[in-house]
Amino acid sequence: MAIGNQSPDVPSRPRTAAVGDLAKIPVTSIDGVGGQLAARLDRLRIRSVQDLLFHLPLRYQDRTRAAPVGGLRLSQHALVIGRIEHTAVTYGRRRALLTRISDGTGALTIRLFHFSQAQQRNLRRGRWLQCFGEVRPGPATLEMIHPEYRVTDRPARPDPSAGLTPVYPITEGLTQARLRRIIDAALADHLGSVVELLPKKILLSLGYPALREALSYLHHPPATVSPEQLATGQEPVQQRLAFEELLAHHLSLRLLRERRQRLRAPVLAGDAACRAAEDFMAQVGFQPTAAQRRVVSEIGRDLERDVPMLRLVQGDVGSGKTLVAAASAVRAAATAHQTAVMAPTELLAEQHWRTFSGWLEPMQINVGWLSGQLPARERRAAQAALAAGEIDVMVGTHALFQAGVEFSRLGLVVVDEQHRFGVDQRLALRDKGQLGDHVPHQLIMTATPIPRTLAMTFYADLDVSSIDQLPPGRRPVDTVVVPESRRPEVVARVAAACADGRQAYWVCPLIDESEALDIQAATAIADALSLALPDHAVGLVHGRMRGTEKERAMQRFRNGEIDVLVATTVIEVGVDVPNASLMIIENSERLGLSQLHQLRGRVGRGAVESVCVLLYHPPLGATAQFRLAALRETSDGFEIARRDLELRGPGELLGTRQTGLQRMRVADLARDRALLPKIQAVGQRMMRGHRGAVTALVDRWVGGGEDYSNV
Ligand code: ADP
Ligand code: MG
Repeated sequence: MAIGNQSPDVPSRPRTAAVGDLAKIPVTSIDGVGGQLAARLDRLRIRSVQDLLFHLPLRYQDRTRAAPVGGLRLSQHALVIGRIEHTAVTYGRRRALLTRISDGTGALTIRLFHFSQAQQRNLRRGRWLQCFGEVRPGPATLEMIHPEYRVTDRPARPDPSAGLTPVYPITEGLTQARLRRIIDAALADHLGSVVELLPKKILLSLGYPALREALSYLHHPPATVSPEQLATGQEPVQQRLAFEELLAHHLSLRLLRERRQRLRAPVLAGDAACRAAEDFMAQVGFQPTAAQRRVVSEIGRDLERDVPMLRLVQGDVGSGKTLVAAASAVRAAATAHQTAVMAPTELLAEQHWRTFSGWLEPMQINVGWLSGQLPARERRAAQAALAAGEIDVMVGTHALFQAGVEFSRLGLVVVDEQHRFGVDQRLALRDKGQLGDHVPHQLIMTATPIPRTLAMTFYADLDVSSIDQLPPGRRPVDTVVVPESRRPEVVARVAAACADGRQAYWVCPLIDESEALDIQAATAIADALSLALPDHAVGLVHGRMRGTEKERAMQRFRNGEIDVLVATTVIEVGVDVPNASLMIIENSERLGLSQLHQLRGRVGRGAVESVCVLLYHPPLGATAQFRLAALRETSDGFEIARRDLELRGPGELLGTRQTGLQRMRVADLARDRALLPKIQAVGQRMMRGHRGAVTALVDRWVGGGEDYSNV
């Protein structure tokens, strides 16, 4: 039920009920739609009349005027009218019926591979042909292969008042023509009942047309607009719908946030907690940066409330996110609550266990370790200690949240190095560690920051803190881009670094379809390096090694027993070996910008000047050039993220593959980015004053998936 924004003399109509109606009227209520067709429509996620009305064309065709043959361009879809000059069957590689027509400006050939004798007779010289299809190259003239066509005795006259022809997303067993008829029937019967959910004032202030007008226009644009214009998505009717769709997604996240805030979380407050966190930072062995302090206190304020925190900490590689997580765990421990620290890989989890133990055990905080690869006995022991409350901070991989793992008083969950962080993952995490109606606070850490407007719109269900400063004394990594052919120089460079007592990573990222082949490549490189560097130790870690083997190799690298570590991308996230000051990355032209930046962040952690060598196979494509140049020019993670956004669009950054964003019908995040700030503001107003419309909008565009109601 809509609240507000209704003039007092209008009786408050049950507006959302009307929406419910269209969403509840099944497609089978449309004439000619039976069970079989309904099943096909279902594949397009069309179940209700509302779904039909919001099933918008992918593109349009202009069949209102004939294009002169002389002006046709390749790949263009065009309507052509011409006189038949010649029809004959040819027997080339494939038998075909060729019909050449001319309209006085040029000649065009129609090629049919499947044809009947009747068709052949019909396409007689001297008659007129009207056809619509895609323009292709041909041996003699431009061609159309199996166009839609009609043969007449007089030249046909297209109807300019007919408007553009919509082309819809379809599915097997459903033709364009059939879907058009169904949608037209739905428009004729139901367009009048489509409810405007954007408040009038807001519509007016944005200068957007009404919803019914927009829908009718997009299903049947007049011929005054061109298909090319519509393809830009910039027409006001399109922007209006894109806006509404983006707004609906944004609102769904705000609803999630609101529902979460109705849950309770343990209060991790008190002087003791603050003091413990302060003590910890004072004794950690270095001076925390101002940014680290700020973020720790932002988190502290959340933890003091009985509302579950969901906070994303974004900070460049090496910005010191681990310290922030540890300070929060100290705070939890001081109020007798447990913390779970989850890392994405065994390697990283193990490293965290080491770091947390080193920092926290002196403060009488017990740190435990749980991994899928622990022997069953140790695993059981760790689980028992955890359930008995003897462990304060439990570090591990996903194994932390598997069945059988019980916390006695979980207060905080830390999830480290989350790259992709789609809505689905957020929802899944939320279920973890729930105790009755109490949920733990959650801290998520990522080295892939996303720009502010995107975060405000699509992370609307969480709070964001940024560690926007690196610890002092870090020198930017000198990045060089080197073609494959200069490999011997690179090997010499590694030898020189090792002779200086420094260590190097040689990264062989997984790029082939087959992991086995990649591992073979990494092994070959390790062998070649061993030969080239007889006085130094070369080690190898890859994804197929057993956890303990990997661990041993990493351990030896950390202890300086290995000088060069050849690795597949298992070292991508978080690994910290300050004495490693040289990194070689193979096949760098094949990796994404953020990924390269993350890898490079493994060096430059100590006091010495570090170098990152990006090996590539020429020639470099334009995108690869842009990426490698960006890496050479900047080491600022936020700037890298901005450029990555430019390259790949926001979908990749937000992890939309795992979310509903990918299924957006009208909006395109990359194209419609300029709408985001407005969506923010309108979203806020609607949450306050238009609650009925909020849920109706989410139902209309995002769907009332149980995920959203379960939180
Ligand atoms: P990331 O943000 O990539 O997770 P880490 O937490 O692994 O970064 O920190 C990188 C390195 O910097 C670690 O060796 C850590 O001990 C060190 N470090 C963290 N904060 C500071 C600081 N304020 N001053 C000096 N060194 C720091
Ligand atoms: Mg880290």
